Amino acid sequence: MRPIIALTGDSMVAPSPVINLNYADMAPNMIKNAIVKVGGAPLILPYPEDDAVSETLAQQYVAVFDGLVLPGGPDVDPTFYHEEPIQAMGRATYQKDQFEIALIKATLEAKKPIFAICRGIQILNVALGGTLYQDLPSQNPKATIRHSQAAPGQWPTHHVAITPGSHLASLMGTSSYVNSRHHQAVKAVAPDLQVTAQAPDGVVEAVESKDSDLILGVQWHPENMWSSFPDQLPLFSDIVKRVGGEADE
Ligand code: MN
Repeated sequence: MRPIIALTGDSMVAPSPVINLNYADMAPNMIKNAIVKVGGAPLILPYPEDDAVSETLAQQYVAVFDGLVLPGGPDVDPTFYHEEPIQAMGRATYQKDQFEIALIKATLEAKKPIFAICRGIQILNVALGGTLYQDLPSQNPKATIRHSQAAPGQWPTHHVAITPGSHLASLMGTSSYVNSRHHQAVKAVAPDLQVTAQAPDGVVEAVESKDSDLILGVQWHPENMWSSFPDQLPLFSDIVKRVGGEADE
């Protein structure tokens, strides 16, 4: 049996009020493909648009899946880390954030593993008590690298240094060349997390749990890279292994 690897959904941004009446819930298909490639069974979880049931759905979903992937997506609403939005904030969806925060907490309580990608690492950090740069270029003068790359999205554009001895280093070694499509980033790191990769300008590019192997998160998009850059695939086989499954490699 393939382990069930859930990934959270987003709602399509509707181009018009007419289409808005019938818009789609969806998740990145390249993450789905990567999960299938490494031997998992992907399952997409839509967020409820009724705040009152976020918690209940999160609890019920956790009983169904073995591991959780948090995909890239919109900005995180700064309300969740007690800040007002700045001018350079992008689209945020309060209900999606609220559901993912409930799901992250329920998943960790159930001792099931998480792999977070891009926005995923950000919502994960916020769920566990950390904060974000709402907009890296305007809020962090030390961030001199272009983290919103202009190159095609699957193409690596900056390097990351990975902490020797970390779980991430056991998967990829101590450096990697990665893509970068983010304008938000981890600022204050949540107490239970440790930074295990940084860009040359100091921007946080990976975190993992301090005291267990339950959490791994990266700021880049390995799902867009692995078919051309196979050194990225172990990030996906890793979550299948962490749920106790046998990964296809
Ligand atoms: Mn980056």
